[in-house]
Amino acid sequence: MTGPDAASAAREIGSVVLDRVTKRYGALAAVDDLTLEIRAGEFLSLLGPSGCGKTTTLRMIGGFEHPDAGDIRISGQSVVALPPYKRHVNTVFQAYALFPHMSVAENVAYGLQQRRTSKADIRDRVSAALDMVRMRTFSERKPTQLSGGQQQRVALARALVNRPSVLLLDEPLAALDRKLREEMQLELKLLQANLGITFVFVTHDQGEALSMSDRIAVMREGRIEQLGDSSTIYSAPVSAYVAGFVGQQNIFDGTVAADLRGVHTRYGMLRPADPITRVSSGAAARAMVRPEFVQIGIDQPDTDANAARGRVIGVSHLGETHQFLIELSPELSLISRRPTPEAPDVSTGQSVWCSWRPESVQVFPADGPAAQNVASAETVPAVIAGKADHDATTADIPATETPAAATHS
Ligand code: ATP
Repeated sequence: MTGPDAASAAREIGSVVLDRVTKRYGALAAVDDLTLEIRAGEFLSLLGPSGCGKTTTLRMIGGFEHPDAGDIRISGQSVVALPPYKRHVNTVFQAYALFPHMSVAENVAYGLQQRRTSKADIRDRVSAALDMVRMRTFSERKPTQLSGGQQQRVALARALVNRPSVLLLDEPLAALDRKLREEMQLELKLLQANLGITFVFVTHDQGEALSMSDRIAVMREGRIEQLGDSSTIYSAPVSAYVAGFVGQQNIFDGTVAADLRGVHTRYGMLRPADPITRVSSGAAARAMVRPEFVQIGIDQPDTDANAARGRVIGVSHLGETHQFLIELSPELSLISRRPTPEAPDVSTGQSVWCSWRPESVQVFPADGPAAQNVASAETVPAVIAGKADHDATTADIPATETPAAATHS
């Protein structure tokens, strides 16, 4: 969107524009000339490893930090000179920060009382906010009498009762256990869709960002590396950094062939479907293949590329899928994930061929570590090292706990 359309979208109630914003702490630019347009009513996640500037960005939108340069506009109005309470924005933090001596209803009412809202209005709005998060029946309880998930719902109600145009959420689910976190992800997404409020959600959990967001801004060193919807970020990453941070990856380092049709690696040639454009011939490159695209077979595939021989060192059942860890060398193990009905009948110790289609090969410049959560050659095998001697098909490779997978050559 450009021209008048973009300008009017940026003025809509609930839109947030960061315009070349910089925030420095001493010599460090925690946020570095960042520009981002968040649409009214969208669920946008700021995703990235620890220290990339997510919280600082959020805090500047909320008014808790002041930018050194640039402008921030909410609903079309510059807010850099406004204190937090004048921004029509509310924040939900990881720590719920509820008042322990107050009941649920009193906690939610607190902000309205400070603004001298009428008693009748407070009663109606508190009830409505507690209904939104399904906590009305708990209104007389104290926070200590609630579970973590319930406390976080109250914190949400407390933020929503002020009817903000924008809700800022700083890792609000991080303290919850995995099952509760997944339930709350669904609830939050539903709530956001029903209310139509803009949500800006900070997380370092790529699964969380992928499952909830309309768009994701992947951050790196105070800047946005890629902005897009979940499927674009996942299937068309712009860099090795994004590809490695979002989802699991098998990573091969090598050099680009003279004809730009493949990457030479220790494990043979990896050929993408189209000629390589991001890296010049002879230059160092990083080829990536996601685990769901790696096939396993006993027979050698009839191809001059995209195949490598290895040994099965782990098999795990993950319900709908089976996951295999295949050692190509002491330095490189591949992860293959197959739908359970199609899972090959192979067991630990067996020699196999791994292969993948050209369409699944992505090639990027080898510009340093792909991402902080790409496991090293040591860590992935270590996950199952203790199990590799076990009888076939039982090694336990955690599904989502294993960081973006695999290994470097
Ligand atoms: P995390 O996921 O760990 O919260 P983040 O992506 O939210 O990380 P920020 O908290 O925004 O990152 O921090 C960005 C950088 O700015 C980090 O290097 C951090 O150490 C630094 N930083 C943040 N706040 C301050 C501060 N008040 N004083 C000095 N440096 C700071």
